[in-house]
Amino acid sequence: MFELTGKTAIVTGGSRGIGREIALKYADLGANIAIVHYGDGENAAQTEKDLLEKGVKAASYECNVADFEASAALVDKIIEEFGEVHILVNNAGIVRDTLMLSMKESDFDAVIAVNLKGVFNMTKAVYRHFKQKRRGRIINMSSIVGLTGNAGQSNYSASKAGIIGMTKSVAKELGSRNVTVNAIAPGFIKTEMTDGMPEKAREAALAAIPMKRMGQVEDIANLAAFLASDEAAYITGEVIRVDGGLAM
Ligand code: NAP
Repeated sequence: MFELTGKTAIVTGGSRGIGREIALKYADLGANIAIVHYGDGENAAQTEKDLLEKGVKAASYECNVADFEASAALVDKIIEEFGEVHILVNNAGIVRDTLMLSMKESDFDAVIAVNLKGVFNMTKAVYRHFKQKRRGRIINMSSIVGLTGNAGQSNYSASKAGIIGMTKSVAKELGSRNVTVNAIAPGFIKTEMTDGMPEKAREAALAAIPMKRMGQVEDIANLAAFLASDEAAYITGEVIRVDGGLAM
């Protein structure tokens, strides 16, 4: 199994769902963890407690990743408190699903602000640190709908496609500094985000998945662990689907 002892990871959206599982997996592999959340702090407090029980250094931070200044200040604070940062997982994300006909400008702006600009803000905040240290891992949570599109998700799909373009661009910028930048494209994963789907949409999605089951958060965390590890040192600018074959 992979080893992350002595590394520090920032996981945005680490309070619940996929981000929480990635944080727990990284801690199992020995990493110190800073999780970032923005809702009420209950989930974040529980995850921080679970991380500390694994014997690593861990802390949770409330920050809106859509806020440029707040993201920069947050990363400075985490570097000060943890010493340095080796891994950034840009996982925070929201949905405001509806057909474009009924999509409000605010639905579009909110999703782009958190899902896409949030990735820019946090990446920009670690960029100089990683560049100077000549190492680093950035793992961006895209989605298969960023590859395929999806009716009712024009805002979300655009944000996730944008992440893919940003991933490849930053991978090109930072490759010579030994910093890898990759994207994970999950399919249909069981979390609070998909629990909110209408039953009909859920049935249709399940029917279309060749493996005939939803993914589990562990399925994503396993790949995130590999991409953060030394074993993945020569993989960059890649987008890897974890979707039971849905988008092939
Ligand atoms: P989730 O259960 O809804 O969790 C979302 C996380 O993002 C929470 O930790 C939340 O913090 C955090 N967050 C939301 N807005 C934020 C903001 N403005 N600033 C900082 N943190 C914020 O989502 P999930 O299903 O685990 O999804 C995680 C990522 O995977 C997302 O980027 C999502 O788009 C992507 N994804 C998910 C699926 C799926 O099937 N679930 C499929 C493809 C891609 P609080 O707890 O504080 O609210």
